[in-house]
Amino acid sequence: MQGNVRKLFLPFLLSLTLMITLLVSVGFEATAQSGATETPTSSPEDRPNRNDPAVFYGEPAVATGDAEWTLGERTFESFYPNGFTFTIEASSSAGAIESATVVWSHAPRNITRRAAEFDEESGRFVATWPGIAEASIPPWVAVNYQWRFTDEAGNTYVSEWFTGEEYYITDEEWSRYESEDIIVFVEGTLPEETGQMTLDAMAAQRETYRQAWGSLLSNKPRAILFGSRDSWNRWRRGTENPNVIGQTSSEWGGIAQVVSRGGIEDLTYGTVLHEVGHLYQNEFAPSGFPAGTWWIEGNATFFELYQQYDYEQRVRDVAAAGQLPPLLDGSGPGATGRGPDGRGRFGYDVGYTFWKWIVMNYGLDAHRQIIEGVGRNRLRNEVLEEVLGMPIQEIESAWRVWLGASPTAPTLIPTPTIRIPPTVTPFGQ
Ligand SMILES: [Zn+2]
Repeated sequence: MQGNVRKLFLPFLLSLTLMITLLVSVGFEATAQSGATETPTSSPEDRPNRNDPAVFYGEPAVATGDAEWTLGERTFESFYPNGFTFTIEASSSAGAIESATVVWSHAPRNITRRAAEFDEESGRFVATWPGIAEASIPPWVAVNYQWRFTDEAGNTYVSEWFTGEEYYITDEEWSRYESEDIIVFVEGTLPEETGQMTLDAMAAQRETYRQAWGSLLSNKPRAILFGSRDSWNRWRRGTENPNVIGQTSSEWGGIAQVVSRGGIEDLTYGTVLHEVGHLYQNEFAPSGFPAGTWWIEGNATFFELYQQYDYEQRVRDVAAAGQLPPLLDGSGPGATGRGPDGRGRFGYDVGYTFWKWIVMNYGLDAHRQIIEGVGRNRLRNEVLEEVLGMPIQEIESAWRVWLGASPTAPTLIPTPTIRIPPTVTPFGQ
């Protein structure tokens, strides 16, 4: 990939006249909006989408005061897993710069900042983030950044965003793949086809995602795929749970995953599609999917094209045994807990069947309508009744009958305490 230091030589001078023109026009726009004419308040759909990198990172530079600011050479250098360093040459016509701060972002709407020190020797401001000594951030996340300055006269300057850097690794072999759907980083120890399979899986689900959510993710996600525990553990702090094989974060705009016993077919057509489903949940209905519930995990599972086993048949077996518990009354089964059949991840599988039942009977459009409802903080059951057009008891009955269960849930008999030690079930999805 790229060398370990990428220098950018883009000195420029910000014209004071241009700045004033900009500020005046912004001010005018604001006045016009709050004017006497009764214009309706803009709906959320009309507002700029700040999850869109072109919008979030497209903000122009902003200055206050009357100084002329000059930015000279700047650099970004990665020392994975020990963080990265930013440097810049900067000056103000009104006097010495008193404070300099770098602000960086791995994905729109998420920022971290660090104060810079002036280095006399190089004549530059330098800011360093120490990496794993401070936080667990995987390699290959995007690093977009801006600089903010205040001079001794109190003038301030916030630069535009500088985009395109990454938290790169120089001492391991990785490959990069990119399509319109995703950016994939594949560690060299994984089979060569892993990258292309991920692109293919994402392409195969593209229209399903689009119809189910109303549009595609605003920010192209990144999948960072590790081939071994050793390389996986490099970016994670402390003694982490060895059962954790993946992490997804809207703050980094992507998913990090280590290959497990399911192999690369499970990784690419199963896990990646599932985790991308969580990114959709975070963008389109951030408060509509409580963590750890059958609702959130069943929904993400619905987007998998490779299953570790036949999830639906497993739930049908439970139904046939007369053991399908209530779903929509109360919290329903927990995501990872054991089912009446003694096997784990019961909520994942039950939730999967519920979303599948919705889509098979009402289409992906019903999925989208449900997302719009819960995305506006409305109650789940209220939204389901409205979109599916029947009372919640009838919804539960219809789903149960579809699975081959009785129309109503049986009275639960307490299950005896299991005395044999439970086996570890494959999670991390
Ligand atoms: Zn999940």
